[in-house]
Amino acid sequence: MLYEIDYVIRIRTDYWQSEETDILEKTDWYQPVSLMSSAENPGRYYLQAFDGAFPGDYTFLFCSNYFEGDLVTVADVKALKDTVLVEQRVIFYDQDIQDPEGHKHVYQQSVTKQATCTEKGIRTFTCSCGKTYTEEISAVGHKYVERRIPATLKQDGYVQQVCSVCSASKNKSVIYHVNDVTLEKADFIFNGKVLTPSVTVKDSKGSRLSAGRDYVVSYAPGTKNPGVYTVTVTLKGNYSGSVAKTFTIRPKGCSLGKLTAKSKGFQAAWKKQSSQTSGYQIQYCMTKSFKGKSAKTVDIKKNTLVKKKVAKLKAKKKYYVRIRTYKIVKVNGKDLKLYSDWSKWKSVRTKK
Ligand SMILES: [Zn+2]
Ligand SMILES: [Zn+2]
Repeated sequence: MLYEIDYVIRIRTDYWQSEETDILEKTDWYQPVSLMSSAENPGRYYLQAFDGAFPGDYTFLFCSNYFEGDLVTVADVKALKDTVLVEQRVIFYDQDIQDPEGHKHVYQQSVTKQATCTEKGIRTFTCSCGKTYTEEISAVGHKYVERRIPATLKQDGYVQQVCSVCSASKNKSVIYHVNDVTLEKADFIFNGKVLTPSVTVKDSKGSRLSAGRDYVVSYAPGTKNPGVYTVTVTLKGNYSGSVAKTFTIRPKGCSLGKLTAKSKGFQAAWKKQSSQTSGYQIQYCMTKSFKGKSAKTVDIKKNTLVKKKVAKLKAKKKYYVRIRTYKIVKVNGKDLKLYSDWSKWKSVRTKK
């Protein structure tokens, strides 16, 4: 606080410290010396003596309250004891402070050592006569600001408090890098609905990141029809980088209808599946596993057809048959065939 003269009482030290009751009635306790604050040097005060100032030992009482009444006796002053924050003894001498040439010190101040974050500085006051004195300058204290280096997909990041002046740091905490971005599901069958598989993102310690705060997910438009779609996970906040994942929507399959035995062949019929398909693929084989040399496939390139004759097989042999649909889609400018799941198999015995 800035002290004004009315907050500071100047009393003879012997009166102030006395416990004698006859002292309490004394009225000659007062010292007409003022305390002046300095506009140039905040925190410094000067004493200014008025007429009738006395030599002697005085105590300056720095009070918390401004005293409005009249202080007449020592008892009046002692009644304010509870408001005294600081006491300072000042001894006044009755002698000429001027040197023989009539020189009065005039001090120029300069900072001879700058205070740093942690170390005190020194301010030196110098008069042209050579007299000097110094004052301490308080240490400034660190000015901490948060430094955040986001974790990437390869490297850990961190958050730390760093002093903007001297770079001292504290409270470092590691942000573990992201090493696991997975889709809930990457393979779907067309069902007429928009499909947006959810995403899980984990750091290298296996902790899940929080959607919205740590990353945002964006889906390619129109993830409904058969196709291959990209999901982009863009990291944010404590993390940076992005990851692209793809998922596939395959066409809906169809079921196999009647198999009719023919001479060295058969005819297959199926239930039409023309929605979001390009055609069908029939597979036949002499084993249920549909593996080995005898496994063959036949493409039917029109999705409106519902039957197909297969000829030139062996006579009087059992063949296993199954069917699936496919759709041709463009992926990165190239045609890609996406197949449905296989139907359940049926079997037929060829004729002679
Ligand atoms: Zn001087
Ligand atoms: Zn610092």
